[in-house]
Amino acid sequence: GLRVEGLSVTFEGTAVVQDVDLTLAPGSVLAVLGPSGCGKSTLLRTVAGLERPAAGRVLLEGRDLARVPTHRRGFALMFQDGQLFEHLDVAGNVGYPLRLRRTGRAERRRRTAELLDLVGLGGYAARSPATLSGGERQRVALARALAVEPRLLLLDEPLSALDRGLRERLAADLHDILRAAGVTAVLVTHDQEEAFAVADTMAVMREGRLVQQGSLAEVWAHPVDGWTARFLGYAE
Ligand code: ATP
Ligand code: MG
Repeated sequence: GLRVEGLSVTFEGTAVVQDVDLTLAPGSVLAVLGPSGCGKSTLLRTVAGLERPAAGRVLLEGRDLARVPTHRRGFALMFQDGQLFEHLDVAGNVGYPLRLRRTGRAERRRRTAELLDLVGLGGYAARSPATLSGGERQRVALARALAVEPRLLLLDEPLSALDRGLRERLAADLHDILRAAGVTAVLVTHDQEEAFAVADTMAVMREGRLVQQGSLAEVWAHPVDGWTARFLGYAE
């Protein structure tokens, strides 16, 4: 699993992430939930190795990743805008990471078809990204992220650009897809409903710090303070 210990990140003297501890069991999905600007993306980028921590460590299966560059961590990242390759068709997008790994053509096709089925896009292989809806684009981005069987999948607001109804449906699907893929994942979001729909455990973040961490049921039943309760959607 993943372990984050005492992680702090500073930009120009300002601590954006402060003393964050996280534990994530293999195959489980953690939601990091917090308002805009609280440091969620920075935390995720630091776990990915894209930012250097001012203090603390990131460990995978007990191994300190400090000296392991991003591309060697075996992680996959997915963002709000799936950033598809517009000049490739859907199969080309999903199979792209496999091509980089020099996976043979037949195996690539088999795996791509399997992934497209997994995300509910069987029959979409030859479509151009330009013809896809926002939700379909995010499904393609997810299939592509899963193609390399990442040791950790990092999702930064993957559903935030979608409208509400679609977001709810896709959140439920995302829950099932992640379990079917058996992937360990961190989902960063400011949407509490999305966090509850997708994750197993939750970490609530405020101004760079984790204020509460636990199972969905624990966090829901016992918000640590009034701010957290309000943020989770409790009426006063
Ligand atoms: P959102 O929900 O809006 O995406 P977030 O929780 O992901 O917000 P971050 O993007 O991590 O928040 O940003 C946290 C703070 O760190 C913000 O005040 C932001 O301006 C600042 N910040 C992020 N990256 C940098 C950087 N490279 N240099 C300076 N400040 C930065
Ligand atoms: Mg962000």
